Amino acid sequence: MCSLRECAGKINIAGDLRVGEPLSRHTTFRVGGPADLYARPENEQDVAELLRFAHAHDVPVFVLGGGSNILVSDLGVRGLVVDTTGLRRCSVSGTTLTVGTGLPISEASAFAAESGLGGLDFIYAMPGSVGGAVWMNARCYDGEIYDVLGSVTLIEPHGGRCVYTPRAEDFGYKKSPFMERPGVMTSVSFSLHRADRDELWQRMREHEADRISKGHFAAPCAGSVFKNNRAFGRPSGAIIDSLGLRGYQEGGAKVSDLHANIIVNTGPATAADIRAVIEHVRREVARRLGHELEREVLYVGQWNEDQA
Ligand SMILES: Cc1cc2nc3c(=O)[nH]c(=O)nc-3n(C[C@H](O)[C@H](O)[C@H](O)COP(=O)(O)OP(=O)(O)OC[C@H]3O[C@@H](n4cnc5c(N)ncnc54)[C@H](O)[C@@H]3O)c2cc1C
Repeated sequence: MCSLRECAGKINIAGDLRVGEPLSRHTTFRVGGPADLYARPENEQDVAELLRFAHAHDVPVFVLGGGSNILVSDLGVRGLVVDTTGLRRCSVSGTTLTVGTGLPISEASAFAAESGLGGLDFIYAMPGSVGGAVWMNARCYDGEIYDVLGSVTLIEPHGGRCVYTPRAEDFGYKKSPFMERPGVMTSVSFSLHRADRDELWQRMREHEADRISKGHFAAPCAGSVFKNNRAFGRPSGAIIDSLGLRGYQEGGAKVSDLHANIIVNTGPATAADIRAVIEHVRREVARRLGHELEREVLYVGQWNEDQA
């Protein structure tokens, strides 16, 4: 790998490029150390240039969306972080909405509603980018992204461009084929349907109000920490609650008082504090109930050996 400053000097993109950018500025937990090299491409050419460069120089790449489903370590991320939030194109043709993957998914939902298009209303007010929602096959209120996914444009590690058409067998509960496919998704087309704008907004505002009532925006967090496994018979939050773990705290990280499957940064938390609370909850549920909870929040970056 070339030195960081050398790398930064050789990359020619329209977007922003920084050495040592603190990732706490880009995650909803508001924690995370520096990225060796941080780039915020403005278009597909920038993305291809960055990936080609990283590929040629053996630089590891992490793709960042809205940072709402990740816990970035206090030591930060080695290599290149490609922040997609500069990819924000948005257009409608008939009932197809095409958006850059860096657009907040909630803005895509609002844009669709304003255009009299239904199908993305279920996801209004969910944090994160379009790209992150596709990567996770995000779901809520009886909908999931796969239901409306038309096609996805992906820039591959060597800089090539491909357009992917979704197949049902590749998607599942919080699962998409992009988890296995390196590269950066740059744009997504959603197949929507004509709908009444006011009815859409009414549902969207109900979803938003429900999220507010559950404390989603009360403190920095990454939403549900553990997936819900139907085999356990109850949602993960109810399982954690039943063990009296609501309010459990280490350092500045705490199991939310409002929802036991959410861990919040009370202000001064480090990533290590948050990880310690997550692991405590996971161990307690395994020890006392025999359920192995599956973590949804991803651990990103360089962790000390005793944390890993
Ligand atoms: C308050 C709150 C409520 C939430 N509620 C829900 C909910 O109801 N349902 C739900 O499913 N989730 C929920 N989440 C979790 C989170 O918002 C979603 O998983 C979201 O889709 C993550 O998107 P992101 O852009 O923040 O992704 P990030 O956290 O930035 O990244 C997640 C993964 O996606 C990859 N990725 C992101 N963009 C791209 C791209 N363009 N190309 C390739 N890979 C990419 C990243 O590399 C990473 O592996 C919630 C989070 C919060 C904070």
